[in-house]
Amino acid sequence: MKVAFLGLGNMGLPMALNLIKAGHQVNGFDLVQAQLDAFQSAGGIPANSASEAALDADAIISMLPASRHVEALYLGDSGLLATANPKSLLIDCSTISPKISQVVAAVAKSKGFAMIDAPVSGGTAGAQAGTLTFMVGGDAADVDRARPLLEKMGKNIFHAGASGSGQTVKVCNNMLLGIQMLGTSEALRLGVANGMDPKVLSDIMSKSSGRNWVLELYNPCPGVMENVPSSKGYVGGFGVDLMLKDLGLATENASDLDVSAPLGELSRKLYEEHSKAGNGQLDFSSVFNLKAD
Ligand code: NAD
Repeated sequence: MKVAFLGLGNMGLPMALNLIKAGHQVNGFDLVQAQLDAFQSAGGIPANSASEAALDADAIISMLPASRHVEALYLGDSGLLATANPKSLLIDCSTISPKISQVVAAVAKSKGFAMIDAPVSGGTAGAQAGTLTFMVGGDAADVDRARPLLEKMGKNIFHAGASGSGQTVKVCNNMLLGIQMLGTSEALRLGVANGMDPKVLSDIMSKSSGRNWVLELYNPCPGVMENVPSSKGYVGGFGVDLMLKDLGLATENASDLDVSAPLGELSRKLYEEHSKAGNGQLDFSSVFNLKAD
C-alpha cells in the first residue's frame, strides 16, 4: 500500500518506520527537518508538504500533537479534505478532543472520504516495538480497511464504536493514568520518607491491593526499574505537557457532559503546576518530584 504519514515525532517516526519495514511505500511530512531526515535515512520518502505526501495515497495517517493541529491539517481551503483524493482512507492517530474528532470526520464524510479516529496507548517503546494498542472509532468497514496497516504498528486493535469513540476511550484511559501516576508517586514518597527501600516497597505493593500499571511497569522512583524514564533522568517517554493536554481534554469533556471529575481536575492542576515549574518536556513520571502546596 502507498501510505502518507504526517507528523513524524516521538510516536509518528517509529510507527512510520514499522510500515516501511513491512514493505509499504511511505511518503512522510513533518514541520521539523531533523525528523524528516531521520525518516529519509530509514527508507521513507520525504515530501515538501502534507498535500504532496498525500498525493495518490491509499491511506493517510496523521500523528500530531493536539486538536488544533488536526483541524489545521484537514480543514480549510488548503487542508487535506480540499486537496487529497477521497479514495484515501483517513486515519487520525493523534490524541484529540472527541468532539473535534467527530466534527472533522463528519466534514470528511460530507466530502466523500472515510475517516477513523485511532489514538494509541503503549508509549514510544510500544511504537518502536510495533506493540501499540489502537482504540478505534468509526464505521466497522473502515476499521477493517485500516486493520492491515494498524496491525503493522500495534498488537491490540479495538473497535470502540462510532466516530469519536476511540478518542473517548483514550481520554478516559489517560485521566486514570494521570491520577494513578500521582497516587503511586505519593505512596512511594511516603514510604521512602519512612526509610523504606523503594524497590522493596514497590515489590510488596505490586503483590497487594495497591498494585497498578505505574507501580509495576513504569515506576516513577529513580533506580527501582531499568529502562523507564525515571531511571534516565525522566528524559523521553510521555511528556508532562502531553499529559496536561489529555487531562484538559478529560476535564473539558466532563464539564460538557456535567460529569463530576474532581480527581481529574485536581490532577490537571498538579501537572500544570509541575509544567509551569519548567518540567513540561520531562516524562510525566517526573511528578514523583512534585512538591505541591
Ligand atoms: P511529538 O510532539 O513528538 O510529535 C508531533 C509531531 O508533529 C512533531 O514532530 C511536529 O513537528 C509534527 N507536526 C505538527 N504539526 C504538523 C503538521 N501540520 N504537519 C506535519 N507535522 C506536524 O508528539 P508525540 O509524542 O509523537 O505525540 C503525538 C500524539 O500522540 C499526541 O497527540 C500525543 O498525545 C499522542 N501520544 C503520545 C504518546 C507518547 O508516549 N509520546 C503515547 C500515546 C499517545
